[in-house]
Amino acid sequence: MRPVRGRIEVNRELPPVPIPASLLNEIWAHALESDPEECCGLISGDDVRRFRRVHRCRNEMTALHERDPVSWPRNGREAFHMNELDYLKVRDEAEGRGERVTAVYHSHVGPGAYFSEMDQEFAARSDFPFPSADHIVIAVFGGSVIGQGIFQRDERTGSFRGSLLVAAAP
Ligand SMILES: [Zn+2]
Repeated sequence: MRPVRGRIEVNRELPPVPIPASLLNEIWAHALESDPEECCGLISGDDVRRFRRVHRCRNEMTALHERDPVSWPRNGREAFHMNELDYLKVRDEAEGRGERVTAVYHSHVGPGAYFSEMDQEFAARSDFPFPSADHIVIAVFGGSVIGQGIFQRDERTGSFRGSLLVAAAP
């Protein structure tokens, strides 16, 4: 595969990262139901189980684009914009249970499960509410999931690296 500048691909030489199969199924279902738009949501967990619960959030990129195409040149097929009320509610409820948001997920429709330059900018924004969260990307093509990666910050270098996301026992 020819590398695309600025894009982080899954590095298959890194050990795969396990996620409970039940959670992965929920994310797949969300991604397939949202096709041809991108889905987005959060995963909460704690120190014992990093990935415990999936929380769907609304992707409001199409609504933003239709209201103001100059400020929002992409629609929900090409990008996601997580509804703020949704993610604040998930965060508060997670904290109420002694959990925290441990991952953000979204889907790509058509292209692969890479961490795009736009995704990286979103994760690095100063107002991004979950700076220590991992980023999961699910690729949907032709009505099926064709790939999935998890992008985690390397604590030593501060940059993201991509690993394959694999289903583990629930
Ligand atoms: Zn993306």
